[in-house]
Amino acid sequence: MRSAVCDPVGTVLSERYERLDITGGPKAVLQQIGEAFTAQLADRGLERSDVLGIAISVPGPVEHGSGRVVSPPIMTGWHEFDIPGWFAADYSCPVIVENDVNAMAAGEYRAHPDVDDLVFVKMGTGVGAGMILGGRLYRGADGAAGDIGHIPISRSDAEAPLCRCGNHGCVEAYAGGWAILRDLAVEGVDVTSMDALVLAVRSGNRPALQHVRAAAATVGAAVADLVNTVNPRMVVFGGQLADLDDVVLATVREVIYRRSPALATRKLSITTSSSDDPGVLGLALLVADHVFDPDRVDQIIDGLRGEA
Ligand SMILES: [Zn+2]
Repeated sequence: MRSAVCDPVGTVLSERYERLDITGGPKAVLQQIGEAFTAQLADRGLERSDVLGIAISVPGPVEHGSGRVVSPPIMTGWHEFDIPGWFAADYSCPVIVENDVNAMAAGEYRAHPDVDDLVFVKMGTGVGAGMILGGRLYRGADGAAGDIGHIPISRSDAEAPLCRCGNHGCVEAYAGGWAILRDLAVEGVDVTSMDALVLAVRSGNRPALQHVRAAAATVGAAVADLVNTVNPRMVVFGGQLADLDDVVLATVREVIYRRSPALATRKLSITTSSSDDPGVLGLALLVADHVFDPDRVDQIIDGLRGEA
């Protein structure tokens, strides 16, 4: 888990990395995040009342209006948990809850401000996409847009692998990092974490390399569907598997260019992220967009006039 204190333009003033078990349930996890954050405020001599806004990203579907996580595949106990309400006990500022890949897309957009149609694809333990369309983060009607990890790609449930979401045959059930580790375990290859998988590929472990290449082809096909649907100017790959760009990028490029129409690919660039983790920057920018939203500022001014 990475927590940070940022200024209103997204400059990271301080940050911390800690191991965190998302399956520990919302109260324990939010307690740990809250403590990491208040410690950083104290280090900088800041009070809770100095905080303009809080943003938190989670690896699951977030209902945009309420900031509640809805039926997350891996976040046991988080369904409908009121995250903004939890922070409201200590902070009076706005609290934004965002899907992790959406936050990464928002951060990546800062590195490519002239690209108004950008798709960010995360290939890590899970698979997902965040979309900037027309210069704005596109969440869909409820917040579920871009969840390409759970697009079904097999015709028959009977033979398809079970996904973490409970369905069979999703993109992630073949190409998620967790699915690769599962398949390697079945083959007797002793690789049990994402870090170990990346190391195994880098050191030339053939089964690991083959599974990562196959995963890249599967994700590439799903992204080609997205390219056909929304016609982005740029697709950026991030996440731990995308760090293996010499293995992953060539495969996804080949699949996307082959499976998308010429008009959609003529000017399309496909690349890897310019940052280790654009998510923190993305969250800071989303807070600033919310806090300085002209309509919200007008409301605050009207409220102050009413009090005067
Ligand atoms: Zn699924």
